[in-house]
Amino acid sequence: MEVQFLGTAAFEGIPSLFCQCSTCKQARERGGKNMRSRTSVIIDQVLKVDFPPDTLYHSHRYGLDMNSIQDLLITHSHSDHLYAEDMAIRAEGYAQSGDKAIHVYGHDLPFRLCFQALNGLEHNYQFHRVLPFVPIKTQTAMIVPLLADHDQLETCLLYYIEKDGKAILYGNDSGWFPEQTWAWLKDKKLDLAILECTTGKSSHRNNHMNVDAVLETKAWMEANGVLKEGAPVLVTHFSHNAGLLHEDLLGIFEPHGIQVAYDGLIVQL
Ligand SMILES: [Zn+2]
Ligand SMILES: [Zn+2]
Ligand SMILES: [Zn+2]
Repeated sequence: MEVQFLGTAAFEGIPSLFCQCSTCKQARERGGKNMRSRTSVIIDQVLKVDFPPDTLYHSHRYGLDMNSIQDLLITHSHSDHLYAEDMAIRAEGYAQSGDKAIHVYGHDLPFRLCFQALNGLEHNYQFHRVLPFVPIKTQTAMIVPLLADHDQLETCLLYYIEKDGKAILYGNDSGWFPEQTWAWLKDKKLDLAILECTTGKSSHRNNHMNVDAVLETKAWMEANGVLKEGAPVLVTHFSHNAGLLHEDLLGIFEPHGIQVAYDGLIVQL
């Protein structure tokens, strides 16, 4: 199985559009792994998580055939995870996309945004509303939506994804997991855990995870046998406001056996 990180930044991107903070300035100078677009991953070219505003850029940069996607999982409605207006680009009159449907999985609010964007257009998406902790078989995987502690006014989801005998936790945007999510994860065996570290060394761990929350989550997973032998743990969804360059993140996470994702990184399982 191949998991590709298409983007690894929070809402603002790094370097951010207008920002003159020292992190953005240094990222502009250094380039490379410090250049981060909005967060998404694609698995085996057929299952994608989230649809950020950088999706067109991702398809250009990585040479993606977006019509190979069969399942699109949406975590929540924030614009760095769902730029619904671009969903219309697949509709009739904008694209000749063939008759193969893309199946979209998510909760009420993201779907409302998609329906607004697609209003009156002929399109070939099939929408499947998911509920927390209720397993659902998609075209390419078995998924279980888990609860996040992110936007208190919205049901934000993490995804457990089981595909070709491998189990992945997509934990983004999570905050410190709610009790039900910890309880659900306790007897699972993961081949890969993807966590968010948006707030860096700040003390904030609700709505978004900070460094300590990521380290404690990995320790909890190890203590409970949730990670299979050698299963990688990766962090993603970084904000320039955390003030950490790629090299700084490596210095923080590598000693703890946690990999720092960057745009384009491919993980083979
Ligand atoms: Zn986000
Ligand atoms: Zn900045
Ligand atoms: Zn968010």
